[in-house]
Amino acid sequence: MKIHEYQAKEIFGKSGIPVPNGQVVASPDEATKVCQIIKGPPWVVKAQVHAGGRGKGGGVKVVHYPYEVVTAVESLLGKALVTPQTGPEGVKVHQVLIEEGVDIDREFYLGMVIDRAAAKPAMIFSQAGGMAIEEVASQTPELIWTEYVEPTVGWMPHQARNLVYRLDPPPSPGAIRELMGVMAGIYKVFATLDCSLVEINPLVITASGRVLALDAKINIDDNALFRQKEILRLDDLSERDPLELMAEKYNLNYIRLDGNIGAMVNGAGLAMATMDLIKTAGAEPANFLDVGGGATEEMITKGFEIILKDRRVKAILVNIFGGILRCDVLARGVVAAAEKSRMRVPLIVRLEGTNVTEGRKILEDSGVKFLVAKDLGEAAELVAGQVSGESKS
Ligand code: ADP
Ligand code: MG
Repeated sequence: MKIHEYQAKEIFGKSGIPVPNGQVVASPDEATKVCQIIKGPPWVVKAQVHAGGRGKGGGVKVVHYPYEVVTAVESLLGKALVTPQTGPEGVKVHQVLIEEGVDIDREFYLGMVIDRAAAKPAMIFSQAGGMAIEEVASQTPELIWTEYVEPTVGWMPHQARNLVYRLDPPPSPGAIRELMGVMAGIYKVFATLDCSLVEINPLVITASGRVLALDAKINIDDNALFRQKEILRLDDLSERDPLELMAEKYNLNYIRLDGNIGAMVNGAGLAMATMDLIKTAGAEPANFLDVGGGATEEMITKGFEIILKDRRVKAILVNIFGGILRCDVLARGVVAAAEKSRMRVPLIVRLEGTNVTEGRKILEDSGVKFLVAKDLGEAAELVAGQVSGESKS
């Protein structure tokens, strides 16, 4: 789960990581008032979306007069912001953070992730701050420094010294102490909130020697949300794909993709293989959908409805290997969904396994039009044939 920068900065503030003063607003009127509370000029006006690279996409504006703060807020709110991380359609901005603008002297990158190979949290620090860290990592890996945390011991001060004393030139003793404090704070946040990522890019030293987190990113491991109830309240559903939200509600593993072939499959591995086959046949999948082994008729119905709701879908491939999920249950779910939402696209079905004869019969008797494929390869060929001649995405 992702949260917004302003929410992450509130958490930082409570954990002793210094952040600039700021206030989030959802209307230009509020912006007028906020200018009086937050110290400026300059002010920095920042779009709050779950995507980075906002600076490059025009989502971060530095302004010098209160009326400019208001116009900057107006220009961002309600618009779709396109950044290198959003895709061409962008993400709609509902909230904007107004912050004191600071005079940056040095910029660093600081982050923590789980390193799967080491099976440990890794603190990552770099002098090359304010840039896309992925590029730094691939082009100049020597500029990236890492310390692994022994989970049973926790973050140790000597590890912070290992990182901070590599800085050239060394910062002032005061700044060094503060940087070490920020590192300890990051680990505390990472461990107590079950994060998959905590990132400050850039972490800066200002001209007056203050250490501040100018940006803040916190991602929480979804599998830990059951014990992170406080964090769950921060979930901004407007940032999420409505079809993915609906799928989540019915416990379906659904991810929307760019193509036009809807797919309903049981088992993640089979779903991946099916997507590969669709691609091999020259088409593009519109989604990943694993309905799982224990799918009920209702789940199948909802899954099918979700696929049909995606207007880009031009044909649907149902590929089920009946095991725990029986083919008759699948068939009844498909029929129920087809009755509810108009079947506006060709349907290709490949069923095998438990109760396959009953399943096929239910489909045949239902009046739902569908093509049967005898194996996976043929299913993919058939479904791709339905959309060939159209643009593939
Ligand atoms: P993103 O990573 O999405 O581009 P950032 O929060 O990192 O957004 O902002 C982009 C750049 O804007 C930063 O690298 C920094 O140079 C500048 N910036 C952000 N916040 C402030 C601030 N409060 N004062 C001064 N400059 C800022
Ligand atoms: Mg940033």
